[in-house]
Amino acid sequence: MEESNKFAALQLSRRQAIQAGAGAVLGSAAMLAGAGALAKLSAQAPAPVQATPLPATDPKFPMPPTWNRELRQLAPNVYAYIQGGGPGVSAAGVSNPGMIAGSDYLLAIDATQGPIPANAFIAASKQTTGKDFGRLANTHHHGDHVNGNQFFTHAEILSHPYCRDECVKAAATTPKMWDKVPGVAEGTEARKLVPPSVTFKDDLTYFIGGTEVQFKFAGPAHTWGDIMAYLPQYKILFAGDVAFFWVAPYANNSYITKWIEVCDKIAGWDVDIIVPGHGPIGGKKDLAEMANYFRVLGVEARKRYDGKMTPGAAAAEIRLGRFDNWIGPERLIMDVVRWYEEWDSTLTPDYNAMAVREATIEYNQVKAGQKKMSEIIPLSRMEAFADPC
Ligand SMILES: [Zn+2]
Repeated sequence: MEESNKFAALQLSRRQAIQAGAGAVLGSAAMLAGAGALAKLSAQAPAPVQATPLPATDPKFPMPPTWNRELRQLAPNVYAYIQGGGPGVSAAGVSNPGMIAGSDYLLAIDATQGPIPANAFIAASKQTTGKDFGRLANTHHHGDHVNGNQFFTHAEILSHPYCRDECVKAAATTPKMWDKVPGVAEGTEARKLVPPSVTFKDDLTYFIGGTEVQFKFAGPAHTWGDIMAYLPQYKILFAGDVAFFWVAPYANNSYITKWIEVCDKIAGWDVDIIVPGHGPIGGKKDLAEMANYFRVLGVEARKRYDGKMTPGAAAAEIRLGRFDNWIGPERLIMDVVRWYEEWDSTLTPDYNAMAVREATIEYNQVKAGQKKMSEIIPLSRMEAFADPC
């Protein structure tokens, strides 16, 4: 996220900030194993910009690469709209939607987080196919996946019931206008959160043109309402936020143990290409690596949990090796909080904003005590994660 964008976001309310904030620290890089010839990095990546203080990176390990926004064709009539990103690069509007072209209409998988990315995705899809969107599936309720729903004006919107319920709740307090957030909204657009109008609890298969699209319920994992889209003919999986590649996974509404189990299950599927919710296109190796992030963090956090250390103090001490270089490393704090909630049986589908806030304050106190002022994380940065719908 650009500096001006980032600080603008920090001055917004929690809900406003999440429009930018959820994506702001995201982004990621191209781990292209499994994507084969489809995986090509552009040389025209935007220049990195200085980010706000974060947990330190580890120079012994590589940093994520940088990649560009593009509508990329993965198979006949199958596309991913990959957001640009990389270390310190603007990634506003960051989640990666998918598009499947039928004979009459297009199916979208996720709607991005605001007017600018949603309209850009819609325009690129229309330009490429000459068709309009007739269906939209939301992989889950987070704002960077559903806030663009209003721009898919002719589309029926599908989701898991939990996703719809969360969107209905959020819609009640959604502002009437978009705030100006560079890369997300001009600030002149009318705003409403359009909840899904069709729900399904387990699996649902669409046959669109010649393409079979199997929607699979994956929750609880990243949230209690995750769905993924599996295209067996092409061995492609649109995983939504079940997959984060080169981006620290965001576990505010997650059940981490079950999320790891879902990753292990996918390892047994006939899948070559995984489109993550965040990060570049990858494959099963990348998903296994994301599960490893949680495993490594789980081992480190559990030692400290057993030693009666608080989550914030634990997060300040934990180093994750190669995962310290993933984009959005401050998510370590919320992810430790979430692990602790599993272990002390206080886990619910809802985000515990207070616990993450307390943990961040503790984390900062430890860093201040160590005179590591460059690693102190603005509370507003964490609060931007607090209200993801
Ligand atoms: Zn999400």
